[in-house]
Amino acid sequence: METKQFKAESKRLLEMMIHSIYTHKEIFLRELISNASDAIDKLYFKSLTDDKVGLNKDDFAIWITADEDNRILKIADNGIGMTAEELENNLGTIANSGSFKFKSENKLEEDNQIIGQFGVGFYSAFMVAKKVTVISKAYGSDKAYQWQSEGVDGYSITEADKKNAGTEIILELLDDTDDENYSDFLDQYRIKSLVKKYSDYIRFPIKMEVTHSRPKEVPEEEKDENKAPEYEDYIEIETLNSMVPLWKKNKSELKEEDYKHFYTEKFFDYNEPLRYAHVKNEGNANYNALLYIPSKAPFDYYSKEYEKGLQLYSNGVLIMDKCADLLPDYFSFVKGLVDSEDLSLNISRELLQHDRQLKVIAKSIEKTISNELKKMLKNDREKYEEFWKAFGLQLKYGIYSDYGMNKEKLQDLLLFTSSKENKLVTLDEYVTGMREEQKYIYYATGESISRIEQLPQTELVKENGFEILYLTDNIDEFAIKTLNKYNDKEFKSVSADDLGLENTEKKEEIKAKEEENSDMLKALADSLSGKVSKVILSQRLKSHPVCLTSEGEISLEMEKVLNAMPTDQKIKAQRVLEINPEHQIFDKLKAINDSGDKEKLGKYAELLYDQALLIEGLSIENPAEFSNLICELM
Ligand code: ADP
Repeated sequence: METKQFKAESKRLLEMMIHSIYTHKEIFLRELISNASDAIDKLYFKSLTDDKVGLNKDDFAIWITADEDNRILKIADNGIGMTAEELENNLGTIANSGSFKFKSENKLEEDNQIIGQFGVGFYSAFMVAKKVTVISKAYGSDKAYQWQSEGVDGYSITEADKKNAGTEIILELLDDTDDENYSDFLDQYRIKSLVKKYSDYIRFPIKMEVTHSRPKEVPEEEKDENKAPEYEDYIEIETLNSMVPLWKKNKSELKEEDYKHFYTEKFFDYNEPLRYAHVKNEGNANYNALLYIPSKAPFDYYSKEYEKGLQLYSNGVLIMDKCADLLPDYFSFVKGLVDSEDLSLNISRELLQHDRQLKVIAKSIEKTISNELKKMLKNDREKYEEFWKAFGLQLKYGIYSDYGMNKEKLQDLLLFTSSKENKLVTLDEYVTGMREEQKYIYYATGESISRIEQLPQTELVKENGFEILYLTDNIDEFAIKTLNKYNDKEFKSVSADDLGLENTEKKEEIKAKEEENSDMLKALADSLSGKVSKVILSQRLKSHPVCLTSEGEISLEMEKVLNAMPTDQKIKAQRVLEINPEHQIFDKLKAINDSGDKEKLGKYAELLYDQALLIEGLSIENPAEFSNLICELM
């Protein structure tokens, strides 16, 4: 008999399964049952349009047989089956092997991550079995084949005998060890509870011969009060699963635990979801849905690899694993499923995209998610802030993308750190807390909260007692600019030229000073030509000598963000150097200017400009010269 070799990636995965110290080896049963159910789905699907299949819905079943004496566990189905070629292709290579790259220092952690994330499927059988035999007959074929393997050394495929289409998986369980009692998986109570736990909602009956015991019938004349009753075993075929999918059950029947359990099992996440919603919608769209908001972002969430989508069922039959059209990008973190009888089973992926009914369902789902988030924000702030930490960035991208098309829908879900107590606030909370004389919603941008707190530009706004939103994510200012206004209040950067803090008298006074010193300001600007577009006297500075602001649409923070992107074109904000007219440096500059020492004035300009750059978190062009200039002027 020819022994064939596994493909390299499959071999690695197999090796991992065999040596796995994964704590939930029991999931192999779920995986095999789920494969059996998928195979039945395929044949059942065929039977709806093809009388030749000759089976009714009630004829389909999955059978579990446990033979304790021989340590054999068998899972059989009368599904679509596999040809020799399919046995070779499906079981010799692992479909997911491309994504199987995860590396971790900790073996247990690595096992958990891989097994959890990729739902390793068929190979999980090798966590509990030393020998796996698959006997299968494909529907429509007259030959059956046997696939057999004892692990990494390879597998064989030979002809076999089997009457009907379907597949039998025969596991010869591993010997018991001190740590693992594999015999347990032959125990009928254990099997029953595993099916209940993992596979209860499988749509086809999972049947097993269950042995019960009952008192022996004793003929009346032989009855003896003094003798203990005798018992006898009898066998009964039981259906172990309730077959009703969780989402079709009544909400009143279900506990929080059921929903959470379903989530962790089905979506391979060890963390409990932050929130779930069980939707039963009737009317313009008929569907049941289970929607979950995860508590943590998956490791690939903010990458191109992440695939959004909900599972899509048509009346209990899975038609798509990740239907992307059911979720807008800004809610791409939502996990769950939708089951609708309005969708045709036979619809192709291409047609589905344009399906009117699917669009109606998607709209309704979006509303539900939005409402759930709002409820969480209102009633469970702590949880919402946890959600925000994981997925807030995605909502901010949502505001900015598609030219702000969705900003109204999302704006009330935003949180920003506020200068008051450094707490997260909603825009509504900010506006509600605004002082009567306050015209704008103020914000400041920077790398971190502590950095922003030190920005000289914030001084005046704070002195007026106004709250400032601290924006630390790259996307923030773009999102704010897209919003433009909230509740008719305009957003205003603390670096903007008009802060709306009109103290007309003071303003006039500074303007007058600016006129008076126009030649000096011009001389300063000239010596900084190419670096700043102008030098002005500041209306906003209180204690700091200088700061850097910008004119026009592009702020300094946006310049930083845009230039960090991998494009050739570099963008430059129109920089303005502001000098504090109340600071002694101003008098000093005047004195130098009056003395006519143009060179010295130029040096001062350089120094002040570099200082402003540093405080803004920007790098200075020539640190050595900066240092030399300081020494020279000290
Ligand atoms: P997955 O189920 O994620 O595709 P598996 O490793 O569990 O990965 O199975 C690989 C493939 O083998 C399946 O996609 C299916 O085509 C086939 N297969 C597994 N079990 C059965 C079965 N009981 N009947 C028919 N085909 C099966």
